[in-house]
Amino acid sequence: MNKEFSYRITEESLFCRRCQMQRVHGVYAEEAYSMHGGLLPKIPLLCECDFCKTQFLAFSQEFAFVQNECIDQDYAKIPGKNRLFPGNWIYLIGAPRPGKIKRITTSHGVKNITIDFGYGTEQTVDITEQDPTQNEESPRGYRLLPAQCGETLIGDNIYHVFRHMFGKAIGMVQDVDIDKLVVQLENGTILFMTLPEECQPLPNIRLQETVKGKLQDLSPRIRDSIKFEVRHGILQANGIVRSLADRRKIQTIFNSIKALRGTINHIKVEPEKFISDTELLDAVHKVFENTRNKDFAYYKPSVNSSKVTVKIGYYKESAITHFENELENLQGVQELTILPEFVQEPTAEECRKMRDAESICKSQAGKDCKIRVTFAEGRLVLSGRVNSLLQKRLIQFQIVKFPWNLASVENNLRIVP
Ligand SMILES: [Zn+2]
Repeated sequence: MNKEFSYRITEESLFCRRCQMQRVHGVYAEEAYSMHGGLLPKIPLLCECDFCKTQFLAFSQEFAFVQNECIDQDYAKIPGKNRLFPGNWIYLIGAPRPGKIKRITTSHGVKNITIDFGYGTEQTVDITEQDPTQNEESPRGYRLLPAQCGETLIGDNIYHVFRHMFGKAIGMVQDVDIDKLVVQLENGTILFMTLPEECQPLPNIRLQETVKGKLQDLSPRIRDSIKFEVRHGILQANGIVRSLADRRKIQTIFNSIKALRGTINHIKVEPEKFISDTELLDAVHKVFENTRNKDFAYYKPSVNSSKVTVKIGYYKESAITHFENELENLQGVQELTILPEFVQEPTAEECRKMRDAESICKSQAGKDCKIRVTFAEGRLVLSGRVNSLLQKRLIQFQIVKFPWNLASVENNLRIVP
């Protein structure tokens, strides 16, 4: 496997252009993404045929496993195949076009469905077919081909209107410079369907100019430190920048260019002066110790060869974005991984205990100590810094002594003499 794409995050049955058939492909990413809840768009993925090892590059938004909210939801439900609800698009096999369900009434086991076909046309039909109660093969519905060829994602279930057949989109291939959707029908036939003009990538030269124009938004210092090349809708960037925040700025610009399929970003971060892992860890701690943000319960940082990993227990998701911004601006951070863990906000009772614990801490701690008391799943968490081990122990002792039925106390105080 390619050394950059070292995480096999999932596998898919896709069309292999060498085997000329559907094969299991490993889908590899540069980071260990979780597939739970779907992937964010614009993540580069290397797909490799398990059989012949032929590879192709694709991006997360081209697959049906991208996050639900990033998908154009024009899937049509088909009676007998899907459960039907008002508001759904519906396609009656043989009809010239799909419509939207306005109303459903049922009498004597027959569904009476009123469909709005647009342009003021409404039609009411009786449907005797039973809705599949569970195990719908495609709960989202179906893309209707060939009309929806352009918005079909790899992995989507399809219905071919002219051939009267169901099937699945199993890939995308490039034929000279033309992109084609690959569909396998239920009888095994494989179709290559040319994507409409507006879905074809722009010529390299035009994309190159678009990217160049967009990069004008960056300061010349950042802009001059990178090189890029565009080929068939994919941008490859190299170079060296000073901070992770700079790298992120560039990536945000790349992501905002709609005409690009995606980016392979090989821009490296090299800080101006060397910062040791110990210094960096101290700086990371200070971000959390000095913050005014109250929406997190705990943090656990580690630094290894300038790569920062922080587990954050958060009450509100905004805390994650906040700390992501703060940390990537720290000098010396070359990579940042945040592992968010959701924590229920403390109850009124727990808040009272937190205040009591805080006053105990204050009475024990020195003047340049910073202590934060929070609650996470029934345990009291102490974070921040004290001057000595003795202080840390005294605080622990006083808190445990207090009669308040705690499940446990997690003492994460660090000692900074
Ligand atoms: Zn193959």
